[in-house]
Amino acid sequence: MDSVGVAAAAPDARPGPAWQSKCPWGAPSTTSISCSLADVMSEQLAKELQLEEENAAFPEVVAAAEGPFITGENIDTSSDLMLAQMLQMEFDREYDAQLRREEKKINGDSKVSISFENYRKVHPYDSDSSEDEVDWQDTRHDPYRADKPTTTPRRGFIGKGKDITTKHDEVVCGRKNTARMENFAPEFQVGDGIGMDLKLSNQVFNALKQHAYSEERRSARLHEKKEHSTAEKAVDPKTRLLLYKMVNSGMLETITGCISTGKESVVFHAYGGNSATEDKVIPPECAIKVFKTTLNEFKNRDKYIKDDYRFKDRFSKLNPRKIIRMWAEKEMHNLTRMQNAGILCPQVVILKKHVLVMSFIGQDQVPAPKLKDVTLSSEDMKKAYYQILNMMQQLYRECNLVHADLSEYNMLWHDGKVWLIDVSQSVEPTHPHGLEFLFRDCRNVSQFFQKGGVAEALNERELFNAVSGLNITADDEVDFQAEIEALEKMNEDHVQNHGKKLSTFSSDGDPPIYDE
Ligand code: ADP
Ligand code: MN
Repeated sequence: MDSVGVAAAAPDARPGPAWQSKCPWGAPSTTSISCSLADVMSEQLAKELQLEEENAAFPEVVAAAEGPFITGENIDTSSDLMLAQMLQMEFDREYDAQLRREEKKINGDSKVSISFENYRKVHPYDSDSSEDEVDWQDTRHDPYRADKPTTTPRRGFIGKGKDITTKHDEVVCGRKNTARMENFAPEFQVGDGIGMDLKLSNQVFNALKQHAYSEERRSARLHEKKEHSTAEKAVDPKTRLLLYKMVNSGMLETITGCISTGKESVVFHAYGGNSATEDKVIPPECAIKVFKTTLNEFKNRDKYIKDDYRFKDRFSKLNPRKIIRMWAEKEMHNLTRMQNAGILCPQVVILKKHVLVMSFIGQDQVPAPKLKDVTLSSEDMKKAYYQILNMMQQLYRECNLVHADLSEYNMLWHDGKVWLIDVSQSVEPTHPHGLEFLFRDCRNVSQFFQKGGVAEALNERELFNAVSGLNITADDEVDFQAEIEALEKMNEDHVQNHGKKLSTFSSDGDPPIYDE
């Protein structure tokens, strides 16, 4: 592959000196070469020039893996292959470091020690590439290209009498096996055996082949095509590293593609792996919600979190990146509360920074449809309505939460039931705007089911009272909202005077119950 050419042609590569200084391959060499026209036309020369370039560039890739990538700034990610190699190197290095720690721990002060050398990922002979670097200019012969393998004729032997050589001959087989090594994936390190007269026994060859195939499969998992086309474009390098790590650790099997790109998050589908380190069982299918780290979209969400007492102390001290992580954290906590109350919702698998992995609602990569996108029979519609009424009550009473973005967009229809999703913005009812949010939720639900022909559906005010247990009697919307705001104000005053919020709002319009 002409990797230099690919890097230069990548659409996001910046032109001019800025790009050149950032490109991990460095600036393209401008050495002028004088030669005849025949030479210019020669394929051989072209190949050599390319090799020369690649050879000159290779050490830089190694250097990049040690430095800038880990700090995460100014990385040129135009080459997938390079990125993957850098990641692999980093993973291998981490693995080896852990191995060394374990080796040290086991050996302790003992005079007899056990070596874990053979289990290392970065094998000693390929960790220092400078030693066996080949100077391409010195030779026209490509040592990595095997000479034409000698073929054994159909009948399976050559020669006559005692000079007969069969296809099972050790020397012939050995040479052939060595030549066949070049069919392994290009990334697979086989050493420089091809240039020598190295004879591999069938047993060694088969072991190598097996290993090469499993390496190829592992690499294929990391380079899953779909993941490249969607995931890669949608997430930044740091997120990509997090996702790679999840696959590499075996927690996820594959990330298959993107389900949704919203203003504030991107959701991916993944098949769960069987991670040995996590004590939890990973669901067979997972949804990965990546909270976007571009901050603009989150500015108008301040009001949800700023006034949430659970996050109050932390909010003022945090930088914007951490605030976004807090959204993910909030979603996780809220989902857990809901799960504990038995409300149908995704089950949290793991939270890593701004990436939340949860169970997938849907099947075979197809997400369950949103309530707005399904046509339900009137019977199912009624069933869905009562289920939601129930869930809203449970959410309020058992989880002490108001969804705050409840609508037919955030309810999925799966297995003949309604599932609630998207709860990063959910707040406790005593949040300064909690009751207003609840009222808005009630309006959405009420309107959806009334339009959907559910005659039993309560109107928004009745629904609000049914969910909250409050008894606001105003029968027009303006007054109703004024009462809601009065209640919220009373709560805020209480916070001002007593330094703490109300534990809950009272039912039946009595004075609120104070949490003393
Ligand atoms: P946003 O803040 O972008 O609305 P959501 O949590 O609502 O984030 O997710 C966006 C979309 O992704 C949802 O509408 C749904 O289609 C899909 N989705 C999210 N979580 C899951 C899940 N656990 N299972 C299946 N689909 C999901
Ligand atoms: Mn949503």
